[in-house]
Amino acid sequence: MRFFNILLAILFLFLPLYLLSLYRPELPALLKDNMGWLPYAILLTGLFLCVVFYDSREFCLLLVTGLCYWVFQSFIWSKGLPDIEKEYLFNLLSFLFPLNLLFYYLLNERGLLNLYGIKRIGLLVVESLFVAWLVSSNWFLLFNFLNYEIVKTTLTEQTAMQQPVIILWLAVFLVVLIYWLMQGGFLRAIWMLACIALFIAMYSFFNVLFATLYISIAGLIISVGIIINAYNLAYRDELTHLPSRRALKQQLMALGKTYSIAMVDVDHFKKLNDTYGHDVGDDVLKLLASQLNSVEGGGKAFRYGGEEFTVVFSGNDAEHAAEHLEELRTRIASTQFVIRHKKRPRKRPEITSQPAETKILNITVSIGVAEKQDEHDNPQEVIKSADNALYKAKQKGRNQVVICDS
Ligand code: GH3
Ligand code: MG
Ligand code: MG
Repeated sequence: MRFFNILLAILFLFLPLYLLSLYRPELPALLKDNMGWLPYAILLTGLFLCVVFYDSREFCLLLVTGLCYWVFQSFIWSKGLPDIEKEYLFNLLSFLFPLNLLFYYLLNERGLLNLYGIKRIGLLVVESLFVAWLVSSNWFLLFNFLNYEIVKTTLTEQTAMQQPVIILWLAVFLVVLIYWLMQGGFLRAIWMLACIALFIAMYSFFNVLFATLYISIAGLIISVGIIINAYNLAYRDELTHLPSRRALKQQLMALGKTYSIAMVDVDHFKKLNDTYGHDVGDDVLKLLASQLNSVEGGGKAFRYGGEEFTVVFSGNDAEHAAEHLEELRTRIASTQFVIRHKKRPRKRPEITSQPAETKILNITVSIGVAEKQDEHDNPQEVIKSADNALYKAKQKGRNQVVICDS
């Protein structure tokens, strides 16, 4: 969520410019004449990042955006083409753009530098040639359809976009939004915000500065998004979305003189896996992670590995930490974990597959906690002490918190 806010803030980048232009009215005209290169610079950076991080879908979106901007700049905003052809070209581009966006959004990620990548980019080339042919051959059948006025309203008068095109954009945005709301994921959030920025760019097409700015903003959202996504992949655990062991390592380096570390281990987890299957085990880990994430008293949870978690209390002694860990332990023990699992049929089902069954499981965890003491040379040794305390908690019968007494 923290990172999502960064992208959201980028979406409102026009605000400082707008405020500045109130004091310096000559600024917009000055910028308009000197900002033409900005989208190219941002989009090229984004394309480079896509190649580095193997993001073929975002690569194609940036390429479509770049192509579109180039056509705007070279053929529509500049002199040369007759007005009617300019209008036709804009209608075609604003119509094809959301379709392209949706197409690449729905594709699976398959990497860039392979046959899939080449096919995807090849499709764009064919499409561009098709648009060029359509415009040069003055084949205006599509033009009439795109110019169709569905409802009489003055609302669409300020924009160059035609009503069928606006509806298409809204429909595509809805699909992207619904996917994001239902499935989450940072990349989906990037697409949703980029979609908004690109729509604003198309909508404000008459205002060259604003459109240029929003094409740049869309490129920026995708580029920054790709970097954050790569960071997430490296520092977040894929299953539980908790910070990973690598993130823990960084946190340990930044600790001061006073801190406590707790090791949390799920009780009898192997048995749960054996009884309900690995998928149910995974679901339980996800639910546990959200409980761990809401531990109070300043504790920060990490996935240490397997069914073990670490909670770091920076600036707190073990007694303070144990108080909040005890609260966490009782909360987990009293939570009923609702799990949907499919009974695996011994034989192949004849007509339909077995319906998913709902199971209620009670899970407990054992916790060992240790605070930094003089005898500890580094945080790793504190973790070792916490591990010893965890071992004692297991020996004493599990489902309890033990403070390291050395
Ligand atoms: P104890 O109460 O002593 O901790 O018993 P336990 O069964 O939890 O301990 P053990 O360490 O023997 O078993 C841990 C199991 O956790 C073994 C492994 O299959 C399972 N496990 C580790 N990582 C994952 C995971 O990501 N998903 C699932 N489903 N299981 C995992
Ligand atoms: Mg274990
Ligand atoms: Mg265990």
